[in-house]
Amino acid sequence: MFRSARKGAIEYIEVEEFSATGFVTHAFCTRRGGVSAGPYSSLNLGYLAGDRVEDVHRNRTLVEEAFGVPAGRLVLMKQVHGDRIRVLDDDGSLPEGGPECDGLITGRPGVALGVRTADCAPLFFVDRARRIVGAAHAGWRGTALGIAAAMVETLAERFSSRREDLFAAIGPAIGPCCYQVDVPVFEAFSAMPGVRRFLHPCREKGRWMLDLISVNRFQLREAGVPSHHIFSGGLCTACRQDLFFSHRAGGGRAGRQINLIMLHDGDEPKNT
Ligand SMILES: [Zn+2]
Repeated sequence: MFRSARKGAIEYIEVEEFSATGFVTHAFCTRRGGVSAGPYSSLNLGYLAGDRVEDVHRNRTLVEEAFGVPAGRLVLMKQVHGDRIRVLDDDGSLPEGGPECDGLITGRPGVALGVRTADCAPLFFVDRARRIVGAAHAGWRGTALGIAAAMVETLAERFSSRREDLFAAIGPAIGPCCYQVDVPVFEAFSAMPGVRRFLHPCREKGRWMLDLISVNRFQLREAGVPSHHIFSGGLCTACRQDLFFSHRAGGGRAGRQINLIMLHDGDEPKNT
């Protein structure tokens, strides 16, 4: 289950079942608790034109400090709306500028996997038996490519994760109340088996409302994650601009909230 929490000024959402493991630090952060101003107010982690780089750096440091992430160990992907997944299984070091991908997995404690969103769905994964965590970015393109299932496959292939040991959470994203899509998106989703029902016609011709969270939930179940191991909240980023950045509702001029997951430093991961 989701619940609200805060560390200092940073307000975030956590998954009770993840916290209960005792080895996972994680947070779906809201926009509250940072130093950025204007449309980026205040916990913006996106290095975007319009926000001050020093403010974003400061926000990054605030997040690392609040969640006990070793300095410089919050890994931010260069998200490209694809389905490429990187595994950080060596020393956790990354290429300059962050890896170009939309999914990260690690069994290494002390490395926080970060996903930045402003309407797209952040996905977290925990293998409770093998102590592996993952994070992914699922907008409509990534979802149409099946990134949730690709994460499950990668966990199974690289870490021998059993599907019944996997837990997943789908964080705050734009809801079916606000996510209007056009023909190309409709075609991409209606071509996928079992997914058409998550597109609802709206009054405007040639437009549909897409339930991105339900599609990801469906894909996770189809990939073998037990239904009762999948958690999601009901908050829509576009409806709740007081809490979240929304690309759509912000007219494209919005910051990015940070969603992070990390194995506790000091814990020994089980070898696979
Ligand atoms: Zn909404």
